[in-house]
Formats: sequence, structure tokens, C-alpha cells
Amino acid sequence: MQYTSTRGGQNVHSKEAIYLGIANDGGLFTPVKIPKMDFEYLEGLNSYKDLAKYIFSLYLTDFSEEEITDCVNKAYATDRFDTENVVGLKKLDSNLFALELWHGPTYAFKDIALQLLPHLLIRSMPDSYKRALILVATSGDTGKAALEGFRDVERTRIVVFYPSEGVSDVQKRQMTTQEGKNTHVAGIIGNFDDAQSGVKEIFTNTEYVKIINEKGYFFTSANSINFGRLLPQIVYYIWSYLELLRKGFLKEGERINFVVPTGNFGNILAGYFAKVMGVPVNRLIVASNINSVVSDFINTGIYDRRREFYKTISPSMDILVASNLERLLYLVTESFERVKKYMSDLKENGYFKVEDDVLKSIQSNFWGDFSTDFETRQAIKWVYREYSYLIDTHSAVGFDVYRKYKEKTSDMTKTVLLQTANPYKFAKDVLNALTDDEYNDIDPFEAIEMLLKTTGVEVPKGIRDILSKPVLHPDVIEKDKMFEFILEKIKDS
Ligand SMILES: *Cc1c(COP(=O)(O)O)cnc(C)c1O
Repeated sequence: MQYTSTRGGQNVHSKEAIYLGIANDGGLFTPVKIPKMDFEYLEGLNSYKDLAKYIFSLYLTDFSEEEITDCVNKAYATDRFDTENVVGLKKLDSNLFALELWHGPTYAFKDIALQLLPHLLIRSMPDSYKRALILVATSGDTGKAALEGFRDVERTRIVVFYPSEGVSDVQKRQMTTQEGKNTHVAGIIGNFDDAQSGVKEIFTNTEYVKIINEKGYFFTSANSINFGRLLPQIVYYIWSYLELLRKGFLKEGERINFVVPTGNFGNILAGYFAKVMGVPVNRLIVASNINSVVSDFINTGIYDRRREFYKTISPSMDILVASNLERLLYLVTESFERVKKYMSDLKENGYFKVEDDVLKSIQSNFWGDFSTDFETRQAIKWVYREYSYLIDTHSAVGFDVYRKYKEKTSDMTKTVLLQTANPYKFAKDVLNALTDDEYNDIDPFEAIEMLLKTTGVEVPKGIRDILSKPVLHPDVIEKDKMFEFILEKIKDS
């Protein structure tokens, strides 16, 4: 299978797409043609791992079967995920299902991709590339999941940048207590987009690349611009559809909606791939927080980042530049020229507008709306009362947008709501939502105990543990000092 840059400048196989991370013209590697699934074959696949192996074999055509099996077995071992089949699927009512994607080591859905990516990367790197230097910009969850995925993996070193005031206390503590000989973390003074554009600039600065190469490293990315991040996410859409069929909750051929709390458009784009591959998806519902740049785009065809940036209680979605949208634009237009025009408009003018036919095609697959913090908190409370089900702030954005979707469309299609993080990652906000701000001044770590007392829902072990771990990565730096930080960290290696 061939992967093309969304801007047309480079064509590669999957191994190159994975170790390069981003194309040399700044575009994102995307399959030239999305494969179809053999549904008869699928019916014989009863474990998540077997399904993953099959899906990966359709995309990673230059990997051997043995390599794929090895990667999957290592990534999804039962000491990594606390459920047999990697994800959990809960029935809330006859129309509504919660797909729990937070059973991995860092309790966010990003583990599902980031436990796998290091294994794919090691098998993709040419021998002449001695060591990979993985750079990550994070709005909170990617950083920890990437650190955990790459920690002590041979031939790799990882540097994570997060907005120092833009992540939850639990997220920050998870990262600053990271163990592993090859892990480095710094907060930057700025927001997520500053961190992301800083990383992008370092990647594309030929001077920097040269310096790094001379030290025996090459840069790569674990952000969702890497196709190796997107691919593992396709599997759970297919898995949940097959599970609903197997359990008799869905009839053969019956269509289904997915509601996806959206930031960088990576997760929901994987849903689009699943749809093109053959899952009968009715609508992919984009749930944005008040930084509603993506849901506004779905509704208007205008992507406009010239707006205020808000910090919300769903920080992993506080993003104004959703990089994965570029892949959708390529898949829908099949035109490098149009994609290049959109991207240069965005860079130069801060916005772009797609043509009516493009918008129509997007709207036939996606529906979008956003949720304010107030509404998100209401949703946490309502879902807990209605279903005795505790959800995190991001997943709550999904519930609230689903409520709006039903109100506006009256659609009764069965719906899967993606649960992107464990509620204890955002314990203080969840607790205050449930109790109408009774614990506004509580210490964020005491909030964990109080949430346990209030709900009886178990605290994941890894979250309990961070309270007693020492802070190993205290650095907070200016955003123009990111490269210096990297050099400092690799100088003795
Ligand atoms: C990253 C993240 C999101 C957003 O996912 P995208 O792929 O960036 O759209 C939503 N919820 C949580 C908890 C996350 O960590």
C-alpha cells in the first residue's frame, strides 16, 4: 500500500510513513486508497488482538505477519490493559452504549495507539538510523501516554512539551513523575498550539535537523500527525460495531452513530476510516468544547482560528489547529492543490473556506456541535444520576453534544459514545460538577479521595500511585527555548 503526503510531495510505504512521522513538504501521510474489509472473515475474529492484527495487515503491507503479531502481542498484553479485550463496552440504555477507551496504563484513549507505536517504530527504522528522538507536544494526555509507551524502549529517546498552565493537576503530576532512562519533560510558558507549532518548527528547521543527525539521532513524532497513531484507533470502531452485532444489540446492516469528544480530529478521523472500510456508520458526531473551531467548520465550511483561545475543564481538547483535518480534506477532495491552498490560507490568513461540494460531502458523514463548561458539568451530573455511570469532563462534552444532536435531528439511530479518559484524571472538576461546587477549594489530590467517597467508583492504581512518586521533571521553559532544552538533555548520550 502506498501512502501519499496530503500535499502531494512524497509517496512512501508504511514503514517510512511511520518513522518519518511527517512528509517533507509539511503534509501528512495518508493511504492513497482506504482498504475494504472482508466481513465474512471478520466474523471469525473474536478477540480484539486478532481483529487488530487483521486490520493492521491491510495497512502495514511492508510488515511481515510475524512483525505485526509481535507488535500487537506486546502492545496489548494484559499487564498493560486491565481488560481482556483492551476496551470496554457498556450498555446504558437500549439505544446508547459507552465505549471505554481508558483501560490502558495512563487512563486515556491515547494508550491504545501509543502502546503500539513504539513497536511499529522500532521495526520501521532503517539500520542506518541509530536512534529516534521522539518529540511530542501535548495538551495533557498524549504526553503521558507517549512517555509510558516509549519508556526504556531501545534506540529511542523521548522529549515531551506541555503547556505549563494548561493541563490538569493529575496530568501534570503524571508527567513530571515519569520514570525511565530515556524520558524528558518540560512545561512551556504558552498554550498547546505554542507547544505544537514549536515542535513543528524544530522538525522542519534544517539547521536543527543537521545538529541532531550529527549526534546520531533522527527526529520523529508521536503526535497524531503520525499515521501509526491513527491506525490503532480504527480498530475499536470496528470492534464495538462487531460486539454490538454479536450481542444482538444491533441487526446485520443496521446503522450506528459514534459520538467523539474532539480536539485534534485524530480519534474521529479513525472513525471515518472505519466507515470507508465498511462499518455502516450513520453519523460521526464531532463534540467540541467552547474552542469550537472544528464543529463550526463542520457547520459552515469555514475553518477560522482567528478567535480567542479558552482554557476549559476538558483541556485535552483545548486546541485551535486540528492537524488531522488535513487528512480528511485530502480524502474528500482527492486534490493536493486544494489541500495546499487551504493550508496556506490557514497559515497566512488564519482561516480557509471549502467549496460547497466539499462541505456537502463532509456533512453527509459528520455532524458537529459544542458544549460549554457549564453544560459539560450538567452532563456529568445528569449521566451519573440517570445511569449511575461516572464520566470524565471530555466524555461529558460528548454526552452533551449528543443531547443536542437528538434535540435537533430526532435521530433514533443506536449510538456509541466514546469514553476518552477515566474520570479520576479530572477528579476535581468531576467532583465539583457532581456536588455543585461543594469542593471548590479542595486540593486536587484530595479530590480523588473525595470522589471515591462520594461515588464509590474505584480509583485506578496508577492514579493512586502518582501521589507518592517524586517529581523528576520540574522544568518550565520559555517557548523559544525548546530546542536548547533538547540539546541539553541529549548532550551526554
Ligand atoms: C486527546 C484527547 C481528546 C481529543 O482527541 P483528538 O484525537 O485530538 O480529537 C479527547 N479526550 C481526551 C481525554 C483526550 O486525551
